[in-house]
Amino acid sequence: MNVWRRLTGPRRALALAGAGALVAGGLVTIPVTAAQAATQCDIAYTTNDWQGGFTANITIKNLGDPVNGWTLGWTFPNSSQRVQQGWSATYTQSGSQVTARSMSYNGNLGTGASTTLGFNGAWSGSNPKPTSFTLNGVVCNGGTTTPPTTTPPPTDPPPTTTPPPTDPPPTTNPPPGTKVDNPYAGVRGYVNPEWKAKADAEPGGSRVSNNPTAVWLDRIAAINGTPDSSSNGAFGVKDHLDEALRQGAGYIQFVIYNLPGRDCSALASNGELGPDELPKYKAQYIDPIAAIQGQSKYSSIRIINIIEIDSLPNLVTNTSGQPGGTVMCDTVKANGAYVNGVGYALAKLGAIGNVYNYIDSGHHGWLGWDSNFNPSAEILKTAAVASGSTVNNVHGFITNTANYSALQEPYFKVTDNVNGQTVRQSKWVDWNYYVDELSFAQAFRSKLVSLGFNSNIGMLIDTSRNGWGGSARPTGPGATTSVDTYVNGGRIDRRLHLGNWCNQAGAGLGERPRVAPATGIDAYVWVKPPGESDGSSKEIPNNEGKGFDRMCDPTYGGNARNGNNPSGALADAPISGAWFSAQFQELMRNAYPAL
Ligand code: BGC
Repeated sequence: MNVWRRLTGPRRALALAGAGALVAGGLVTIPVTAAQAATQCDIAYTTNDWQGGFTANITIKNLGDPVNGWTLGWTFPNSSQRVQQGWSATYTQSGSQVTARSMSYNGNLGTGASTTLGFNGAWSGSNPKPTSFTLNGVVCNGGTTTPPTTTPPPTDPPPTTTPPPTDPPPTTNPPPGTKVDNPYAGVRGYVNPEWKAKADAEPGGSRVSNNPTAVWLDRIAAINGTPDSSSNGAFGVKDHLDEALRQGAGYIQFVIYNLPGRDCSALASNGELGPDELPKYKAQYIDPIAAIQGQSKYSSIRIINIIEIDSLPNLVTNTSGQPGGTVMCDTVKANGAYVNGVGYALAKLGAIGNVYNYIDSGHHGWLGWDSNFNPSAEILKTAAVASGSTVNNVHGFITNTANYSALQEPYFKVTDNVNGQTVRQSKWVDWNYYVDELSFAQAFRSKLVSLGFNSNIGMLIDTSRNGWGGSARPTGPGATTSVDTYVNGGRIDRRLHLGNWCNQAGAGLGERPRVAPATGIDAYVWVKPPGESDGSSKEIPNNEGKGFDRMCDPTYGGNARNGNNPSGALADAPISGAWFSAQFQELMRNAYPAL
C-alpha cells in the first residue's frame, strides 16, 4: 500500500457537485389539506414492490422556511404495512403510524432543499401508498401557501391496484440481474469473524468488533484460505460467503488486490505476481473468484468488490518524468497489466447480477491537484472499458482506502484567506484544491460522470482510520498570524505531511460504517481492517512478497514525495496485513467520534 502526492502545474477550477439518483416507481402526489405559513413541503414516495415486501424511496422537498431537524410522519393505509429497515432517518412505527426523524447530517434543509431517505418494508394483501405526510407536524401540501378551505380527494391509486407480485423475490435483493442503486442501503453488513476475533482479543476491542470490515483477497491462496499466513485467515471466499448467509448479512465486501506488479511505486505491499503475469491473474485469480461469487446460493447477498487499491493513479503520478517515478510503474503502464487487469476484473465480476464493483480512486492528498485529478479520472475510464468491460460494470468508486485523510476539516476551508493569502498557499495544503476527503470524493464523482460513467454511480470513503480524535485534536481554528499557523493550528489531520501513509502515529478510528451519509456517497466503510499493519518498520523476511518500505520506518527522513518529512510511522510494526496490537489500541484511543 502506498499513497500520496502532488505536483505543481497549471491549476483550473473544478466542477463541484454530484447528486444521487432516485429509483423510479409510481409517484404520489400529496393532497392539499391544511397548511401553515412557515412549513411547506412536497413529498415524493415511490416503491418497488414484490410479494410481501417492498423498498420505498422518499424525497422531502422543503418549500417553507429553513428547518433544522425534521420529523416526517405518515399513516400506512393498510394495517399490515411495516417498516423493517430504514436509512437516512431514524424510524419508529406505532400501529400504522410512522415517524422518520432526521439524522445529524441531514437535518438542515434550506428553503427549496431536498433530501432523500428510504426503507425496506413488509406488506400482505396490498401495499397502497400513504396519502398524506406531515413535516414537523404540519401536513405537506406541495407548496400552497394559503391554507385551503377544502380537502380534495386523494389522487393516489386505490389500494386494490397494487402491482401484481412477480416471482418469489430474494429477501433483500431485487430480481436477479437488477442491481440496486445503493447496495449498502437497508441491509446489514457482514462482520468478518477472523478480524472480529483479533479485535475482541484486545482490551476494549469489543466496542468496535461488530463493524463490517472488508475481506482482502491479497493473493491467489486467499481464495481458498491461508491458514499459515501472518496476514490472512483460514477462511476462503466460499467460507466468508457461507458465513455471511449464516449471519443473515445483506452485503459483504471483498478487496480484489493482486495485480501483476502490484504496488508499483512502493515496497510494503508488493505482491506475488510479476509484471508479465496478466494471464495468471485472469485464470488463477479473477476467474476462480468469479466462479464462487456467481454461485446461485449466494444470489441474495450483495457482493461488493473493491477493485485494485493504489493501482491506476500510479500510472499517472509515479511513472517516468514524475518525482516518484519507478521502473515497475513504467513497466505495468507500458505492458497494460493494470489497465487490462482491472478491465478484466470488472467485466468478469460485473457480469454477476448481485455483484457491485467499486474501483479505487486514491485520495485528496494524492490526486487533489488538477494535474493528477484529471488524468487519473481518464485512466479510470480507460480501464473501465478495457478487456471487454463497459462502464456498466462500475457501480462506483472508493477514496481514502487504507489512508488517513480526514473526512472533513472543521476549522478551515480551502476557500479561506489569511491576511490576504489563500490557505492553498500553506505548506500543508500546498496548492491542493481540496482539504478533505468528502469534498474530493464528491468532486471526483462529478468528473467521472462527465467522462461517461453512469450518472448514478456512488462513492465510498474508507473511514477506518481517519478519525483524528484524542487529546491532540484541535478545538478551533489556528492563529491568523499566517496561512501556516492558521492551517497547522486548526487541522485535525495531524500527520507530518499529507503524503505519509504508513501506520500513522496519532490516528484514530473514523466514522463508523454507515449508509448514504452525504450527497453522492453510498457509504462510509471500513475497508482497511483497523489493527492490520500497513507495512513493517524494518526488514522482516516473509514468503508473501512483501518488501520493506522506509515510509514505514519511524527513523526515515522522507523523500521528494513527502516533502522530505519524517515518515510519522509507528515503531515495531509487523508486515502489511499482520495484526498490530499497539496500532489498534491507538486507533481506539483516538477514535472520532469517540468510542
Ligand atoms: C496488505 C494485505 C492486507 C491488507 C489489509 C495490505 O496493505 O498488503 O496483505 O490484506 O493490507 O490489511
